[in-house]
Amino acid sequence: MRSLRAQLSLAISMVVLLTVALLSLVSNLTVNRQFEAYVTEQEKVQSETIVAHLGTAYNSLSQDWNPDFLHTVGMYSLYDGYLLKIYDRAGSVLWDAEHHDMTLCGQIMGEISDRMEKTKSAGGFSAHTYEIQSGAKTVGSVSVTYYGPFFYSEGEVKFLHTLNAVLLSVGVFALAASLGAGWLLSRRIARPVVKTAAIARQISAGNYGIRFEGTIKTRELNDLAGAVNYLAEALQEQERLRKRLTADLAHELRTPLAAVGAHLEAMLEGIWEPTPDRLRSCHEEVIRLGKLAADLERLARVEGEDLTLRKAPVDLTCAARTVCAALEPEWKGKNLTLTVEGESVTVPADGDRIAQVITNLLSNAIKYTPEQGHIRVSVTHSEQEGILAVEDDGIGIPEEELPLIFERFYRTDRSRSRSTGGAGIGLAIVRSIVTAHGGTVRAEHRDGKGSRFVVTIPKV
Ligand code: ADP
Repeated sequence: MRSLRAQLSLAISMVVLLTVALLSLVSNLTVNRQFEAYVTEQEKVQSETIVAHLGTAYNSLSQDWNPDFLHTVGMYSLYDGYLLKIYDRAGSVLWDAEHHDMTLCGQIMGEISDRMEKTKSAGGFSAHTYEIQSGAKTVGSVSVTYYGPFFYSEGEVKFLHTLNAVLLSVGVFALAASLGAGWLLSRRIARPVVKTAAIARQISAGNYGIRFEGTIKTRELNDLAGAVNYLAEALQEQERLRKRLTADLAHELRTPLAAVGAHLEAMLEGIWEPTPDRLRSCHEEVIRLGKLAADLERLARVEGEDLTLRKAPVDLTCAARTVCAALEPEWKGKNLTLTVEGESVTVPADGDRIAQVITNLLSNAIKYTPEQGHIRVSVTHSEQEGILAVEDDGIGIPEEELPLIFERFYRTDRSRSRSTGGAGIGLAIVRSIVTAHGGTVRAEHRDGKGSRFVVTIPKV
């Protein structure tokens, strides 16, 4: 397996290498082609210039040729790579480069052939015949032999070499620069990824306190680091709750067990008479433990993965009235007033579970509202959901604890709740059932005093 940095560097280098190679190739080819066209054109122009010069070597008055001039033009042309053979009108040879200096001709032609072979441009020598004009009259002809389709002079070959060298060095420089840039870029990307992976490993090893510090300039990587931090926070919170759950459960069990244990021991050792009152007190503690077990069992059932909802249309107001009636002995016993208001709002839900939600909320309202208090259940609806609110003018919940009361075993004030007998499981059950229905539940402060619980259940 290759590292991210190696892969990025490799990919960037490959792209750069290809681009530079392609650029060099294309520019080289275009420049060469243009230059060839230019040189070929130059050869034509040069030939025409030679012919024009030769025309001036003819004296039309004396109808004679100037041999010195012919010789000069012939020699200059020869040095330029053009072999001339000049004829008069009758076709007799006036001047012939080969005839004049065979060795020099051979040498010049050999040089040109060598040069062109080196530039890998295939071609060969060929003769082209032009008429020599003086005024409007044709006074002779010239056969010009040169290397075709084009040939380079020494200066031109030098120019091409320099150009290629410049292109090559620009390519090498661009490659080196982009390799450097690629390396830096991949380092910038790979570094935070490696760091985030190390943090994730630490988290999986149980170190939930670790966080990715600082910000990363790449947005997606910054999001990744943020997600890992969020994961660590969530796990830390879960861990905290799990530890608390164990501690709370132990506490819940120890207190009644210790009480029952002490009572029974005293009675067994004859220190206490087993009076009906003492036995009843033991019985109450045992019942409390039974209730706790039942609560835990119910919570496990609604929190389990196999929570199946038997959905049917449920009228929330109707359900609220039924629960109120069932709890009548309790709220009447405390001299509370309980009202149920609202229109008929029907939602698809599991009737038994919704009754459980309302029972838990109402039992709490009854528990945490002093005598003569008021409890109000109201049912309304919005376009998408049915809304059920339970409010009381009881002891209320401190602001900072509002988000926590739905956690298992959470109680706002342990000693206070202990007297009411709750173990802090009721609201956890409420939340699980409501969430399973796709709804929400929240607790809020009431303006005057007391608290309000609002449950929403989607209509579809
Ligand atoms: P419990 O069995 O202790 O009532 P719950 O999960 O039902 O457990 O409630 C959690 C805690 O939330 C309670 O201990 C109590 O402190 C607080 N609480 C719940 N309902 C009310 C309410 N209507 N008024 C004030 N406090 C409440």
